[in-house]
Amino acid sequence: GRKFFVGGNWKCNGTVEEVKKIVSMLNEAEVPSEDIVEVVVSPPFVFLPLVKSLLRPDFLVAAQNCWVRKGGAFTGEISAEMLVNLGIPWVIIGHSERRSLLNETNEFVGDKVAYALSRGLKVIACVGETLEQRESGSTMDVVAAQTKAIADKVSSWDNIVLAYEPVWAIGTGKVATPAQAQEVHFELRKWLEANVSPAVAASTRIIYGGSVNGANCKELAKQLDIDGFLVGGASLKPEFVDIIKSAT
Ligand code: 13P
Repeated sequence: GRKFFVGGNWKCNGTVEEVKKIVSMLNEAEVPSEDIVEVVVSPPFVFLPLVKSLLRPDFLVAAQNCWVRKGGAFTGEISAEMLVNLGIPWVIIGHSERRSLLNETNEFVGDKVAYALSRGLKVIACVGETLEQRESGSTMDVVAAQTKAIADKVSSWDNIVLAYEPVWAIGTGKVATPAQAQEVHFELRKWLEANVSPAVAASTRIIYGGSVNGANCKELAKQLDIDGFLVGGASLKPEFVDIIKSAT
């Protein structure tokens, strides 16, 4: 069985006061046990130590990015080594906002995933097509190429969660229908089966992201190949708890 996974990507949001409020809300929430659902929240770098120190021990933290190789003279970057040093177990890599706004290529994302894994981090690796790509019928080609760029660089998928986040659904309120999401998740799993291994295809969590909220999560969670969520906007709100609960 693939344990349900719910990630909260806070993106570039929050003040110390707001962060403390969100953490208190999470700490007070009654949610299914760690055996049922893995919960990981991803605040901006500067709040990581604070969140880690205040957050309940059954929820873990993730960084939203890290540098592609060993740290050094890379002004403004945060290395995988630093995350490990702070006890941060997870990192999100290849989010569409970084791919599009910061020009991260498939190859660069693949290199980053491999380097982060090599330092002992666990990785939420993101893939997803734009609206234009969907409308031209190239969704599977795009997400397969993004996944291949990762598969080419890593020797194990044990510490990777694959997040399918269609760009047209991110922050738009236009969630993929359960059938649309399931179709891509199924195809991604088939891709892993054919190109990595049947064992990796069976064990890798493929989570959905893009306008997930407390109201639409249940139907999505029922789909066979949807193993959880990566939540943006709603992860800053009390409804994040409802999304966690959709694991059962
Ligand atoms: P929204 O849930 O705000 O659409 O964002 C999704 C996302 O990008 C999570 O990484």
